[in-house]
Amino acid sequence: DRRTAQEALKRLTVDVPDWPEKGVTFKDITPVLADHHAFSAVVTALAAAGRDDHGNVVVDKVVGMEARGFILAAPVALALGVGFVPVRKAGKLPRESHAVSYTLEYGAATLEVHRDGIAPGERVLMIDDVLATGGTADATRQLIEACGGVATGASVLMELSFLDPRSVTGDLPVSTLLTI
Ligand code: AMP
Repeated sequence: DRRTAQEALKRLTVDVPDWPEKGVTFKDITPVLADHHAFSAVVTALAAAGRDDHGNVVVDKVVGMEARGFILAAPVALALGVGFVPVRKAGKLPRESHAVSYTLEYGAATLEVHRDGIAPGERVLMIDDVLATGGTADATRQLIEACGGVATGASVLMELSFLDPRSVTGDLPVSTLLTI
């Protein structure tokens, strides 16, 4: 359940100070993935955002953001019984794509999705490991909307609340297992 997932996350996530640059504390979730029970618990907890109060699946697709989002989103999609769609960094997708650029703390980034990855009207849940500034989630929402889809929300393991991501994600529903 959710408590088990939260406890596993707290126990196994490793804080790496000053990585990849000075002043950033990187949340390394690889020990969570390496533990079968923890991995299973966090996937189940993330997938809850794709169900209603009766347990019915209310999304048509699950999107994962490169790269750690892929690892979490694919098993969430299988758990919900829906398809998985990758959102990738610029230049990686082989066919016609939508692109959205956004600003990072230093510089800019571009994310892309295949135009036919999401059909008009489809309801899409986004999955990632960490919600930091919220820029990645907001760009992904714009990609889903460019396809004509509906972003139902983002489900993440951790939210770095001190970076105020909700000021960027706005009215997008965000569910998080741990708030830091
Ligand atoms: P943001 O766009 O700022 O919300 O950043 C979110 C993306 O960057 C996610 O895909 C995360 O995997 C990654 N990220 C940002 N900050 C961290 C952090 N402190 N630890 C681990 N991953 C991070």
